[in-house]
Amino acid sequence: MPGHDYETLVPLAEVQRLALEPARPLAPVHLPVDEALGCVLASDVVAAEDVPPFANTAMDGYAVRSGDTAGAPVDLTVVGVLGAGTAPTVAVGPGEAIQIMTGAPIPPGADGIAIVERIEALGAGPDGRLRVRVLDVVEPGYHFRAAGSDLAAGSLAVAAGTVLSPAHIGVLASVGAGVVSVHPRPRVGVMITGDELVELAADGSAPPLSPGQIRDSNRHAMLATLRRDGFEAVDLGLAADTEAAVTAGLERALHSCDAVLTTGGVSKGEFDYVKVVLGKLGALAGGGDVHELSVAIRPAKPLVICWLPSTAAGGGSRLVPVFGLPGNPVSSLVSYQSIALPVLRVLAGHPAAAPPTVPAVAAGGLQRHRDGKTHLVRIEARWGDDGRLIARSVGGQMSHQLGGMALANGLAIVPDGEGVPEGDLVQVILFGPIEPYVSSSAGSTET
Ligand code: AMP
Ligand code: MG
Repeated sequence: MPGHDYETLVPLAEVQRLALEPARPLAPVHLPVDEALGCVLASDVVAAEDVPPFANTAMDGYAVRSGDTAGAPVDLTVVGVLGAGTAPTVAVGPGEAIQIMTGAPIPPGADGIAIVERIEALGAGPDGRLRVRVLDVVEPGYHFRAAGSDLAAGSLAVAAGTVLSPAHIGVLASVGAGVVSVHPRPRVGVMITGDELVELAADGSAPPLSPGQIRDSNRHAMLATLRRDGFEAVDLGLAADTEAAVTAGLERALHSCDAVLTTGGVSKGEFDYVKVVLGKLGALAGGGDVHELSVAIRPAKPLVICWLPSTAAGGGSRLVPVFGLPGNPVSSLVSYQSIALPVLRVLAGHPAAAPPTVPAVAAGGLQRHRDGKTHLVRIEARWGDDGRLIARSVGGQMSHQLGGMALANGLAIVPDGEGVPEGDLVQVILFGPIEPYVSSSAGSTET
């Protein structure tokens, strides 16, 4: 791949393409189904057995012969009781019924269920046996759940490429797939850099700041972001602004991670060593794949992307993507969201690299000046009364204003130019929940 002049602004789409080019899904592993939530299934799972495995009742009531109820109300003799989990031992003969609980197998002879709410208990008849009055006609098949009516044996239960939801986990358990082949959650390392940074103590206490020092927020925000997105977050700690510290940190990262994010040290400062070290490690690895970029976005212009050989045991010739993200707290999150996340999703086996963007109506206008960059504006997206999304700037848009980022649930993609006028549509990358739809009509009747 050709290198890029660090001073040339590279359009976001090209950076995304460049970052994604070498990305391949991690080799599948076998995981217990209870550990596979959010993972991407690597091979189809076919139902080995019918679900449900036998015909059973969907309701509590009485298993009857539908023909007996043609002249309902009709009185029937109770010849048994069947709970869920019991196999029938007697059949339902003419004029007879078997009391049955939800999930119990349909006894032979019965072809419908009279629900308990439409039954009158009559007590013992002259022969001493219990009798019930069925109030309504029961049609054949009433409240039956046929064998295989959820999933038939041999049918596709969950397709390869599916991102496993809680319901998928349940489906897999229902067909007896206790261990599944999935792409593993990428182990993503986070290494922060900066001599000005002060860490929280292990007990959560905050040491006093000396002049020139600030508290680290990137480590915590990046690790939390990775966990939110379903990756395994690996804390690689803080590297001092020296070539030796950054090199040692990255070498450790290549030993233990499937992908690495660093923050800081990729601008033009005297002590920005991440850029320098990645350049050297890239050259050692054969070079050519280290991209020092000025991305045509605001915030988050500086970025280094490279793919370095894994040194993990069994890593083979696998390459590990390393993203040298900018240090400013908002920039590192925006850079992650727009450039690193699609790559991590490919490693995790997601069929679509980029999370989808959605159109929203610009509220208040998203003004800007022409500067050759796409602006990624922190917005809060809410449902409007008409069911459309409304995007409003959260204010504070500078790259150190993490408080503004915390108010945002998305980034509006505002192309170079004068901005998006109030009421026009703008594409939005969503990364947080949307406040519920606020309707002027009365609530729904569904429970
Ligand atoms: P750098 O990219 O290293 O020049 O950092 C850019 C800005 O981000 C500087 O103002 C840094 O102090 C700040 N910064 C870098 N890393 C962190 C961090 N981990 N937490 C908070 N701010 C940071
Ligand atoms: Mg720095």
